[in-house]
Amino acid sequence: MKEIDLTVDPTRELAAQANQTAAMFVERFGAEPTWIAAAPGRVNLIGDHVDYSDGFVLPFAIEKYSVVAGAPTDEPLSTICSVQMDASFGFDANSNLVPAQSGWREYVKGVFHGFQSLDASIPQMQMMINSAVPVGSGLSSSAALEVSIATMLESACRLPIGKRQMALLCQKAENGFAKVPCGVMDQFISVFAKQDSALLLDCCDLSFRQIPFDLSEVALLIINSNMTHELASSQYAVRRKRCESVCQKLKIKSLRSLDLETLQSNRANLDELEFKRAKHAVTENARTLAFADHLQTKDWQQAGHLMYQSHDSLRDDYEVSCLELDLLVDLAREVGLAGGVFGSRMTGGGFGGSTVSLVKRELVDDISQRITEQYNGDSRTSHQATAFHTHPTAGAHLIKRPQH
Ligand code: ADP
Ligand code: MG
Repeated sequence: MKEIDLTVDPTRELAAQANQTAAMFVERFGAEPTWIAAAPGRVNLIGDHVDYSDGFVLPFAIEKYSVVAGAPTDEPLSTICSVQMDASFGFDANSNLVPAQSGWREYVKGVFHGFQSLDASIPQMQMMINSAVPVGSGLSSSAALEVSIATMLESACRLPIGKRQMALLCQKAENGFAKVPCGVMDQFISVFAKQDSALLLDCCDLSFRQIPFDLSEVALLIINSNMTHELASSQYAVRRKRCESVCQKLKIKSLRSLDLETLQSNRANLDELEFKRAKHAVTENARTLAFADHLQTKDWQQAGHLMYQSHDSLRDDYEVSCLELDLLVDLAREVGLAGGVFGSRMTGGGFGGSTVSLVKRELVDDISQRITEQYNGDSRTSHQATAFHTHPTAGAHLIKRPQH
């Protein structure tokens, strides 16, 4: 395979993925790509199901990227291929783009539409999407896809929109075109992520702090239950509605302004589910802020303790876990501190997807093997787990662009 000339020096793995994607682009379109863009997936360390309640979240970007190779074309239509979907589609990037039936095309069209709304002059584009973020595993392949395309279009349209606007544009694409009513966390971290840092994001005003994450003693183990989160979208909407009804009853703008005392004193005004959902949001915000402090002081035991508490809250109060996620966290608990596990929790929307565990660095391979073997041999689920460990990586960037 002919090596392409990259303008930025990526990691070895990302360079290999970029080269592979460029080769596929050449094979499909007969010329070299002008741009190659990469945007990472993410894991949320703590703070789940609070972004739409104006809460605090603490994600980091994982070393798995959506890579897009692209070039402008004189053809009348743009053509977008996805290796993972084994499909392609054509559309006029200058036509009035409107959402159609759901599906992966909508994520792409939504991002083009975002640039259209900024009056960008968009060339017809040929693109090859090749993502290493597992699809539908709670690691945010959708945001990685949107942000990688937006990163390329920003350069292709010569319209520097800045990181914050890019995150919001991509969220809007997912909300309006893919019809997924997600918060902004996934897009935000994919855009803003910094090497070796987690990002404490205040979803109320989108202010954030990069929290240095020293991984010399610990590792972040991600275990994919391989239970896809099909229930997630319908249940997500139900959870959001319930939070809104709490806010209406308590006459507050969002659950962010609630504290535990006020919630307890208003218990009689809420039904049981409303109370439980609000309790999760209130306690999760407190846990996320405390976790960020423990990260900075490297108090892994306390941080791990909060991860377990967060999982319990998502399982019992927010009720978005499932047998597979509970099983993975229980297996981590069994390994325990003695075996090198500080803490473990489901991450992302729930009903499937992945867990994140904070473990002793030198034991990560043993722990990973032990938990996956036990999960795979458990008769309560037919799913087989896959695991990897990772560290916080850099956000979206171009790895090839025209040299002017
Ligand atoms: P996740 O947790 O992975 O973000 P979502 O359900 O939010 O799960 O998003 C998954 C959807 O994003 C896929 O069903 C597909 O429509 C789109 N998607 C993600 N990665 C790709 C890709 N490489 N090519 C095309 N579409 C993709
Ligand atoms: Mg997603």
